[in-house]
Amino acid sequence: MASKDLKFNTKTIHGGQKPDAGYGAVMPPIYQTSTYAQTTPGGHKGYEYSRSANPTRTALENSLASIEGGTHGMAFGSGLAAIDAVIKLLQPGDEVISTNDLYGGSYRIFKRIFEKFGIVFHFVGMQGVNAVQEKINSKTKLIWVETPTNPMMNIIDIKAIASLTIDKDILLAVDNTFATPYLQKPLELGADIVMHSATKYLGGHSDTVVGALVVKDQELADRLYFIQNASGAVCGPMDSFLVLRGVKTLHVRMQRHCENGKAIAKFLYNNAKIEKVYWPGFEHHPNHKIAKEQMNDFGGMISFVPKGGSYEEAIKIVERLRVFTLAESLGGVESLVGHPASMTHASIPKEERLKSGIVDALIRLSVGIEDVDDLIADLDQAIA
Ligand SMILES: *Cc1c(COP(=O)(O)O)cnc(C)c1O
Repeated sequence: MASKDLKFNTKTIHGGQKPDAGYGAVMPPIYQTSTYAQTTPGGHKGYEYSRSANPTRTALENSLASIEGGTHGMAFGSGLAAIDAVIKLLQPGDEVISTNDLYGGSYRIFKRIFEKFGIVFHFVGMQGVNAVQEKINSKTKLIWVETPTNPMMNIIDIKAIASLTIDKDILLAVDNTFATPYLQKPLELGADIVMHSATKYLGGHSDTVVGALVVKDQELADRLYFIQNASGAVCGPMDSFLVLRGVKTLHVRMQRHCENGKAIAKFLYNNAKIEKVYWPGFEHHPNHKIAKEQMNDFGGMISFVPKGGSYEEAIKIVERLRVFTLAESLGGVESLVGHPASMTHASIPKEERLKSGIVDALIRLSVGIEDVDDLIADLDQAIA
């Protein structure tokens, strides 16, 4: 059966994989090597130097291409290294339209690294397509979408944004870190590039930092592969192995993340001490209809604001939590809590943060796969 005909849960385990040619190892070995013996100059078995390609990395790249429904995957040393490669497709003077409510590090690399090379970034709220449409001109070469957004859990209609790029020389890239292909497949909705911080749900165990791109077009794959090899921010064999192992349980982990996320979103919503809860599964969430259309479930990321909450009150709550660990990052088996204003989003100026609703009291949860009763009891004592 060709990999592309398999269903999703089967693809996470078998997609793009075959037993190792050497000894039939079921898990791809960690090919911890920089170079490969040649019989005559150029006489090799497909690998000559591990920046250009490494068999463990290839196994991961094929797996990622399979689960995202793409044709080519590329693994990088971090999510930001993957973003870096995408922006390097552009020329000085080119314009990018990006989601305004996005991962702080993405904002930082756009503004602080690439703006000085003459690339122009526009940050807009993308819940309506009009705001995006208004910014499109002949210099627009890339639209950067993150959905669900971080940390406000807004949902952006990928298909509607993709429709703006038809017949235009504009690439649509979607950061699929929060949703993962278990919940949403941007390439099927019209995106050209899917980007991941595989550090998060794909790896799933908070044990490595890895990034990835997946595309469905040979020409674009060639251009990105050239950048991957020429700039060299590749993912090492051990890290490739760890993410590959993580992907094999992505579907079972995601199912539990979603179940626990739903129970916690409801607990917070019904708690008198909580002012606001951001989770796309609520029917009253402003983008719930699109979330239902483009996602299979609603994920394990939730943000909330305590009633009358101040910066200090939010800090107290995150410090009181015992099962939730106060830490950057998300998407691991363990539940994490973060305070965006002082942590993940501290690199975004306060006025910009407030424009997207990131108030000082906002708290973000990455709900893990522990027993949900323990998680709820922990939140209950921290809020009370
Ligand atoms: C973590 C994250 C990134 C950056 O990835 P790294 O692996 O930390 O470099 C990008 N986008 C989102 C949504 C993230 O959560």
